[in-house]
Amino acid sequence: MSKENLALRDAAVIWHPFTQHQIEPISIPIASGKGAYLVDTDGKKYIDAISSWWVNTHGHGHPYLAQKVYEQALQLEQVIFAGFTHEPAVRLSERLLSHLPPNFERVFFSDNGSTAVEVAIKMALQFFHNQGNTKRRKILAFADAYHGDTFGAMSLGAPSSFNDPFQDMLFEVEFLPSPQDTEACLAAMSSLNSDEYAAFIFEPLIQGAGGMKMYEASTLDALIRMAHEKGMFCIADEIMTGFGRTGKWFAMDYLAEKPDIVCFSKGLTGGMMAMGLTLCSETIFQSFLSDDRRKMMFHSHSFTANPLACAAANASMDLMEKEETWASIARVESRHRAFAETLKNHTILKNVRIHGSILAMEVETGEKDGYLHSIRDDIYRYFLEQGILMRPLGNTIYILAPYCIEDEDLAYIYDKIKAFAQGLI
Ligand SMILES: *Cc1c(COP(=O)(O)O)cnc(C)c1O
Repeated sequence: MSKENLALRDAAVIWHPFTQHQIEPISIPIASGKGAYLVDTDGKKYIDAISSWWVNTHGHGHPYLAQKVYEQALQLEQVIFAGFTHEPAVRLSERLLSHLPPNFERVFFSDNGSTAVEVAIKMALQFFHNQGNTKRRKILAFADAYHGDTFGAMSLGAPSSFNDPFQDMLFEVEFLPSPQDTEACLAAMSSLNSDEYAAFIFEPLIQGAGGMKMYEASTLDALIRMAHEKGMFCIADEIMTGFGRTGKWFAMDYLAEKPDIVCFSKGLTGGMMAMGLTLCSETIFQSFLSDDRRKMMFHSHSFTANPLACAAANASMDLMEKEETWASIARVESRHRAFAETLKNHTILKNVRIHGSILAMEVETGEKDGYLHSIRDDIYRYFLEQGILMRPLGNTIYILAPYCIEDEDLAYIYDKIKAFAQGLI
């Protein structure tokens, strides 16, 4: 099957996500993946600099992950998770909890990041509902936040071009200023009415889709402390930051104050299978216990705790528990830091920032920053032509690669970033 032929068949029948088909009618058919590389049906290789939308942590086609999923498929591929359980789910929950602060004691399974967020919001709102508290119905989030694409998750996202068509249908959420503005955030938080809020949700330390915006742990610590004083639950959306991305297991490991609920997906299975998790404290779980069935958690998806996804997550945990994985993460970070040194005083590549394995910067052209920035398509196409999958957020370019990426592949990406900027001068 030729590459063109497959691309044309695709273009006739498939509607792709986050794609303007009028401008980008053709998708690249990928045949295989190995390590940090994707290979198209003509054999052209692309360095996957964004881990295929932030999910792939250990590289593509990982034989150990593949083997574990295969073994599980022969054993048990799926079972209803209401009234039934299985070893891969129990083991995964026990292992995850052992890596989290001790206040986390319960694991709820779903299918993806957005659903993990929906469940978190339901936990917080129903906690108060079950207690007969009708006042705490509001949710608090940050400016520039992104928490997913379902209606609840969209409501929690900052108003943007992503959810413009639906803005009038979304539930009301109070937005704090950008967490990069510590003083404004603390002032806004302290002025909030104490008894109206159920939860405060945030992407800890890095706001991903909002533009890889990084902010201080001390700011978040102060906000969590105030939120707790005001009696709301704190929800850490670690869907992008979890599983080593920031240089520690979780971004919350940089915090002194601990959240009450945490959401995982993306890197959870090493990028192998779709799964979401929402973990919470025993206090929250207990509030759903009752002789009255109306107090239980009314949320489930057909594939909740799918055994294959659990097997992939357990296998990914095996790799995460190996020293060499952490050595790779540290190596990637040190490469990023050396590259950032060479960008000091660069006239076009600005705001270079690093957190663990994530490197981000803005391409400054004088135009306002943002997701629909006109240079976005030029950047995307340029890097694809160079054999690099790099999907900028407007004029923000970033590297968020599988941890196994080789130094020479990083060096190649760095060179091309500089070459692209050179072409703008
Ligand atoms: C990607 C992402 C989500 C949504 O996850 P999906 O699996 O795409 O639904 C939510 N929150 C954050 C921080 C994310 O990066």
